[in-house]
Formats: sequence, C-alpha cells, structure tokens
Amino acid sequence: MKRNLILILTLLTTLALLACNTQNEDMAYFQLPPELMGKLAAADLLDGKEDKVIEKCASCSLMMPGKPEFGMDLSDYHLQFCSEPCQASYATDASGRLATLKVPELPAVPELPAEMAPEVPAVPEAPEAEEH
Ligand SMILES: [Zn+2]
Repeated sequence: MKRNLILILTLLTTLALLACNTQNEDMAYFQLPPELMGKLAAADLLDGKEDKVIEKCASCSLMMPGKPEFGMDLSDYHLQFCSEPCQASYATDASGRLATLKVPELPAVPELPAEMAPEVPAVPEAPEAEEH
C-alpha cells in the first residue's frame, strides 16, 4: 500500500514537471500571426541591428530603452522591457499587446534640400598686394 502511494506521488511529480516544461516551451515558441511577426521584425530593426533582440520597451511604444533583467522570449525574438509591469503586461497577453503596438517608422536619414544646403564659405580673398 505504502509503495503504491510513493509510486503515485512520483508519477504526479513527473507529470507536474512535464506540464511546467510544456508551458515554458509554449511561451518561447508561441506562434504569432504573420502581421505580429512583422511588427517584431520592424521593432528589432529600430535599434539598428537585426539581431532578434528588441532592445526598446515594446510596452512603451518602443520609446523607452529596455533592460536585460526584464527580458522575455517571444517566438524567435527576445524582448527587453523597461520595467517589471511592462514585462508583465506582455507576459499575460503578448499577442493582444503586440496587436495594438505601433512600431515607429525608422528615422529617415535627414537630407537637406539643395536650396537649404549651407553655402560653401567663400575662400577669403587674399589681400591685394600693395603696389609700390
Ligand atoms: Zn516600458
């Protein structure tokens, strides 16, 4: 009788561990719809590197710098949030938050129109040599 109990307990523990592992994997390899994957890709490019690490806080419209200690894996990407509440909001509803996220456009390289380009300073004329 006692032996059976131990067996059942062992089984339950194993099942619980398996359940935990499955949950973690679901979180990391959470399948996102293509449009949300596109947002992640755009957000990834915002920091200037296509490294699958989103360094700006997605919860703050990608305006705040994220911190490694508030990181979270989402699909192929690693998101860094600026604070624990920001991280928690994505941990509970990543696809819902992503759906409302507006990824800012990449800042365009400023290009001055020709007429506004600063004039090339004229080389000061050499003082005329005095005639003797
Ligand atoms: Zn934030």
